[in-house]
Amino acid sequence: MTVTEILQSRKTTGFSIEVLPPLKGSSIDKVFESIDSLREFNPLYINITSRHSEPVYQTSSDGKYKKLFVRKRPGTVAVAAAIQHRYGIPTVPHIICSGFTPSETEYVLIDLNFLGIHDLLLLRGDNDKEMLVDPKECHRHATDLIQQVNDFNEGKFLDGTTTDPLKNKFSFGVAGYPEKHEEAPNMESDLRYLKQKVDAGAGYIITQLFFDNQKYFDFVDKCRAMGITVPIIPGLKPIKKLSQLSVLPKTFGVNMPEPLVRELEKCKSDNDAKSVGIEWLTHQCKELIAKGVPNLHFYTLAASDSVAEVARRVY
Ligand code: FAD
Repeated sequence: MTVTEILQSRKTTGFSIEVLPPLKGSSIDKVFESIDSLREFNPLYINITSRHSEPVYQTSSDGKYKKLFVRKRPGTVAVAAAIQHRYGIPTVPHIICSGFTPSETEYVLIDLNFLGIHDLLLLRGDNDKEMLVDPKECHRHATDLIQQVNDFNEGKFLDGTTTDPLKNKFSFGVAGYPEKHEEAPNMESDLRYLKQKVDAGAGYIITQLFFDNQKYFDFVDKCRAMGITVPIIPGLKPIKKLSQLSVLPKTFGVNMPEPLVRELEKCKSDNDAKSVGIEWLTHQCKELIAKGVPNLHFYTLAASDSVAEVARRVY
């Protein structure tokens, strides 16, 4: 079954996770350990993130700085295949536009098709100031990437050659933003483009993380009012560190409710902040389950222990 079919068939709220490929030069064992610690909650599917190359500066022997582009976490396709093979759980590699040419993406789709991985999350990716590949050579939006995947499903390649339509077509989800994407001039235009992604074939939406459930409920209402009927999966992250009080709003453009901020301000250590994070997320999850959401999707980066504790309390 594809993730879209799994979500459509859910009667109770499921559990799913997002993992990151290991840092370049690190073993995959840490990823497996993180999944092992969460297996008792029967993940419906596991997402694997993708990231383009980033500039790093090295000092050469003459003391000058040299700029290199490095992909810090390569291996999205390989990690997806390794996880699916090891656990028999559907994996969902993220495919991004930024930093990748459509030709590179086509080769990734060919690999995934050969590997029997047919679920994708299609995203634009972050548009950083400096990227190895000129942004003009990349798809501009997730909608363009969706078009490429739809063409690929029909057996149309970028060079104009064709083949039979895929027997197992790629099925995909897209991203949505309960508090609006940071570049969108307003919520209405952001939703208009979200609807375009769904109309082009997205089977479900996974949201950006949020700490205020009301933002998610309002977002779902607005989507439904626009005629977006696919499942909208809440993306959830436990707070682990005091520094996240300022880092998370800045990085993800999310609002932290005042009661959460007050609790975090009382914390003396990261351990205290972690406990507050678990309490807050537990409360969020209980309310979301009570409202009958199809699935809770957890961002586990450096936080699988907190996610396990929350899952133990709510499932
Ligand atoms: P888009 O849908 O292209 O939207 C980007 C902006 O453009 C929005 O403001 C939208 O309103 C507007 N827009 C959309 N379509 C059009 C159009 N056709 N014409 C004009 N304007 C348009 N980033 C990574 O680098 N790697 C990851 O693995 C990753 N995983 C993520 C997982 C989830 C669940 C989420 C929510 C985000 C993830 N991101 C990831 C971050 C994401 O790539 C960024 O938020 C990015 O800035 C936007 O991606 P998008 O797919 O929503 O883009």
